[in-house]
Amino acid sequence: MHFQFTPNEEAFRKEVRYYLEREIPKRWRELGFGLWEETDESWAITRDWNRKLGEKGWLAVAWPKEYGGQERPVMEQVVFNEEMTYQGAPTGVETMMTIGWVCPTIMIYGTEEQKQEYLRKAAKGEIVFCIGYSEPGAGSDLASLTTRAVADGDDYVINGQKIFTTMAHRADYCWLAARTDPDAPKHQGISMFIVPMNTPGVTVRPLTNILGFHSFNEVFFDDVRIPKENLVGEKNRGWYQLAIALNFERSGVAAPAGAKRMLEELVEYVKETRRNGEVLAKDPLVRHKLADLAVEIEVCRMLCYRIAGMQSKGLIPIHEASMGMLFGSELMRHLTTAGMQILGLHGLLNRGSKWAPLSGAIMRGHLASLSLGVGGGTSEIQRNIIATRGLGLPREPRV
Ligand SMILES: Cc1cc2nc3c(=O)[nH]c(=O)nc-3n(C[C@H](O)[C@H](O)[C@H](O)COP(=O)(O)OP(=O)(O)OC[C@H]3O[C@@H](n4cnc5c(N)ncnc54)[C@H](O)[C@@H]3O)c2cc1C
Repeated sequence: MHFQFTPNEEAFRKEVRYYLEREIPKRWRELGFGLWEETDESWAITRDWNRKLGEKGWLAVAWPKEYGGQERPVMEQVVFNEEMTYQGAPTGVETMMTIGWVCPTIMIYGTEEQKQEYLRKAAKGEIVFCIGYSEPGAGSDLASLTTRAVADGDDYVINGQKIFTTMAHRADYCWLAARTDPDAPKHQGISMFIVPMNTPGVTVRPLTNILGFHSFNEVFFDDVRIPKENLVGEKNRGWYQLAIALNFERSGVAAPAGAKRMLEELVEYVKETRRNGEVLAKDPLVRHKLADLAVEIEVCRMLCYRIAGMQSKGLIPIHEASMGMLFGSELMRHLTTAGMQILGLHGLLNRGSKWAPLSGAIMRGHLASLSLGVGGGTSEIQRNIIATRGLGLPREPRV
């Protein structure tokens, strides 16, 4: 057991860090954007940034060269993602969805034409996907989705509605789960499609999130006609592709890297801030809270490395990915809650106020953290997966 990065991985980390320290746009740093913001300006900056990384072959460093990557080992992708998050580079959720979750699934199940068409453009930062799984009547029980795709000549015709579709208003394509056999058992009649968002009949309506930003949407499909070649993988076997894509979604390493940065900023804050005549760093309650968080971050990091280690051996982490996601989302809630307690009333102030500690980042992170145990499957669903797939407990709990 070696708890160390290899010299190659360390050298790559140094190279990435050096690049990010110099290249992260000044305006982005001034704005202090976090992952939880979405404005026209943040979108423009992240889009340009992705193209810049794409030109270097860094947007998808572990992908095969023929699809625009650098064929680096999975652990170098981990190093890259850690540095990007730790340094606060302008990466948005649409990049994670496209590069981290949807395209790797297309790489497994797509035709060569699909790979050439979508992966190459995605790796250059030219296109982004949104994800159309959830519906008003299908969230945790996703397999009960009712959006229909009906074969008609050379096309499929899609009708239905998706909800909470993050970045649908920016996306070029939707990675869509639709029912293709309504008579089959519910997990067996679903197929996956790539739907261009500019197809007639696609309507996107904004939903405003808890931070007051428009990042997710309702998406309506009314007689949306797409060519049959936009089906990905086998018809009616989409559930398995969707499950693979969800495993990629649950395997991120961003949580501990972002948490580490936030903890370091809190540590600096308590060293510099006096309350009741004494520096906060001397308050035993504050010290213990920060110490507990340092432990949680280390545990989360190890969970994430284990997942990446499995992936680099070609294994598919299932309950391990759920453990990482569950722990990571709870960590962000603990961290930002502790942060709010430490900052006190000033913590309620947002960027723009000269009195806002850490430019309001803890407060925004705190609000955003409420959604972390929901998107990609709620914490309860992750616990169910750990119980059944990890511990071998029966599927249906006794009520
Ligand atoms: C920030 C954010 C971004 C999102 N982005 C997208 C996106 O891009 N695309 C997309 O398709 N969806 C997206 N979602 C939707 C997300 O996947 C769903 O909200 C989630 O799967 C839960 O579904 P639901 O909201 O319908 O809740 P429900 O399934 O109705 O659950 C309600 C409550 O019941 C609990 N519950 C349900 N079933 C069980 C069970 N079997 N055992 C124990 N407890 C259970 C849940 O844990 C939850 O607390 C996003 C959500 C958020 C918050």
